[in-house]
Amino acid sequence: MADSEQLKSLCSMIGAAERIVVFTGAGISTESGIPDFRGPQGVWKSKPPIDFRDFVASEEVRRNSWEQRFSDVYKLTGAEPNAGHNAITKLVNDGKVTHVITQNVDGLHQASGTPDELVIELHGNTNYSKCLDCEKRFENEDIKKEFLENATIPYCDSCGGL
Ligand SMILES: [Zn+2]
Repeated sequence: MADSEQLKSLCSMIGAAERIVVFTGAGISTESGIPDFRGPQGVWKSKPPIDFRDFVASEEVRRNSWEQRFSDVYKLTGAEPNAGHNAITKLVNDGKVTHVITQNVDGLHQASGTPDELVIELHGNTNYSKCLDCEKRFENEDIKKEFLENATIPYCDSCGGL
């Protein structure tokens, strides 16, 4: 927790800055009920991350990955932006913040009103997937429906890619 001197210093820096780029990680979304990955109660304690090379190499790993994604282990369903997301959006609307770079996949910066084109998502977004070969975009709600109803692992309907 920041003390009042730190807050004054931060306000002064924000006031003096011509342009700010915000970088966020899991910490900003924990107040929205989304657990972090590495902390003591982090998701990775019970569900270790799936290595991309393993995902590409193994159908079983892909199946586990989609099951994990759709089991809401990340508690993203119903999550709402909190005061931190809203404060950043205010700075965007005030013209101070030009871009938000985030490690988060929850889409809460956009949900709080920051335009999608100003958010750079380093680890993607849980709302959609892209074919690894042709980059066609698929909405995850459609993949989820098919996966839960038919246990079908998704392949690209254009090129057959992952
Ligand atoms: Zn494709």
